[in-house]
Amino acid sequence: MKLPLHGRCFCGAVLVEAKAEPFQVSWCHCRDCRRQTGAPAVVWAGFRSEDVHVAGAPRRRRSSEHIVRGFCPDCGTPFSYEDDRLAGEIYIHTGVFDEADQLVPDRHAYVTSKLFWLHLEDGLAKFETTTRRRPG
Ligand SMILES: [Zn+2]
Ligand SMILES: [Zn+2]
Repeated sequence: MKLPLHGRCFCGAVLVEAKAEPFQVSWCHCRDCRRQTGAPAVVWAGFRSEDVHVAGAPRRRRSSEHIVRGFCPDCGTPFSYEDDRLAGEIYIHTGVFDEADQLVPDRHAYVTSKLFWLHLEDGLAKFETTTRRRPG
């Protein structure tokens, strides 16, 4: 994978650069991701926070007790997800990267919430809820 990876929101006001490969790339079928993006499912690339630089002024909004989601306040593009319980990790929507083709999903999260008409028989590992264990 050629690094760094470059991403941006639809209007270009928020830019993201990742200097290392993601440690995982996961589909998420949860209702929160679906509602927030309007898409039937999303794909998150998980990075160490220290490997990701975000430029511009994204708005960060707490969407549930432990979760903060970042988006562009100008065009509304959703792009990041952070969980208080997963310190040092940031998840970025693969769709915002120029290199989205290289960010190949390796698992599915929240398959229990997957839309029944979405057929993804790709043989990847399926998790009923989250793919990463949260402490506590
Ligand atoms: Zn924007
Ligand atoms: Zn989700």
